[in-house]
Amino acid sequence: MSHCPADTTGPAVAAPAVTAPVRERALSLPAEELPAYLYDLGALREHAAAVRGALPERVELYYAAKANPEPEILTALSPYVDGFEVSSGGELAHVARAVPERPQAFGGPGKTPAETAAALAAGVPRFHVESAHELRMLAALAAERRASGPPVDVLPRFNLPLSDGALHTSALSMGGGPTPFGLDPSEAGEVMRCLTDGSCPRLRVRGIHAHLASGLGAADQLAVAGSVVGWAVRLFERHGVPLHEVNVGGGMAVDYADPAARFDWAGYGAGLARLVADHPGLRLRIEPGRALTAYCGWYATEVLDVKRSHGEDFAVVRGGTHHLRTPATKGHDQPCAVLPVDRWPHRWPRPAARGDRVTVAGQLCTPKDVLARGVRAPGLRAGDRVVFALAGAYAWNISHHDFLMHPRPGFHFLGG
Ligand SMILES: *Cc1c(COP(=O)(O)O)cnc(C)c1O
Repeated sequence: MSHCPADTTGPAVAAPAVTAPVRERALSLPAEELPAYLYDLGALREHAAAVRGALPERVELYYAAKANPEPEILTALSPYVDGFEVSSGGELAHVARAVPERPQAFGGPGKTPAETAAALAAGVPRFHVESAHELRMLAALAAERRASGPPVDVLPRFNLPLSDGALHTSALSMGGGPTPFGLDPSEAGEVMRCLTDGSCPRLRVRGIHAHLASGLGAADQLAVAGSVVGWAVRLFERHGVPLHEVNVGGGMAVDYADPAARFDWAGYGAGLARLVADHPGLRLRIEPGRALTAYCGWYATEVLDVKRSHGEDFAVVRGGTHHLRTPATKGHDQPCAVLPVDRWPHRWPRPAARGDRVTVAGQLCTPKDVLARGVRAPGLRAGDRVVFALAGAYAWNISHHDFLMHPRPGFHFLGG
């Protein structure tokens, strides 16, 4: 995806409503301590409680740690989630340190023998198995490392076709076509036989896992969940094995063009309640990442320079996409709000925008270092502060921090 050409006439992305703790900290930090990631933990707890409250019984909520694994975030979420989904040995060890004793599910492609052995040794109760090879490796290692005690629970991950035509949107598709994720449905028979004919004695198949797409609204998510559950029910019936749980993945939409919008958790929860009502005894599990933590994170910075280039205004801020890569990766404008600062402590003149719309760029020597275009900011001045919203997921931890060797941002956990 690439950036759209600068839009200086159409509607600007709506400015986000900056929460009080974020506004206060973004304005009170000295300029040298910017940029900074500000995490509103009070807002995070409130949001997580609302998500949890919208989900019926028999639907477990796991947090996909890869979206944002900061220990303070994991700790704040912990009371509202049933566990954590980890996708590497590194995440597994990190989550175990940050939120000890909380259940983990170990997923993700390309698990190494060492990671798998470490997860078995750590007592991780549940594995999402990505391939037939991985199943054979896990079976062999479990026979050695978990020779006694309860068997290891396994959910094979299937890359099921998204054939229902029910999907209206799908930003990042992880399934439904050729991908490196999960098992091809044609391998289901072999995998189920291996898990039920006694050849994997230390493994116990509980159900299936399917994380097929990201960026889906509630109606699409429900359509996917319904078809995944239906497929799993038929598979387990064919093999005469009880189906205990189905993990329907994450991927609940975050709308970067509308920072006030939220995934319809109430509608989704009501739909899941109907689905579990149709299948007594079945547990569902979801494992969102982005839609849980995106909203609590803000990237606050200061305008360093304002200039006009070929008829357009540009603001250069401290930091950039090496700290907040999300807009470059997803090809969007990161929603932001300007916090004007009247004080100008310097002896030299203060530059200001001449037009209404400004493109906000970072300090990197590459045209890709653009955080937002078409920002409505008439008269924006050097020294004003800008806070970028929706920076709590896939933001700092996916960014290329060392490019150009600028200083790292600060990290502030507000309301902790
Ligand atoms: C990334 C991922 C998630 C979380 O996806 P979000 O889009 O952040 O909700 C959940 N499950 C699996 C297997 C993933 O790879």
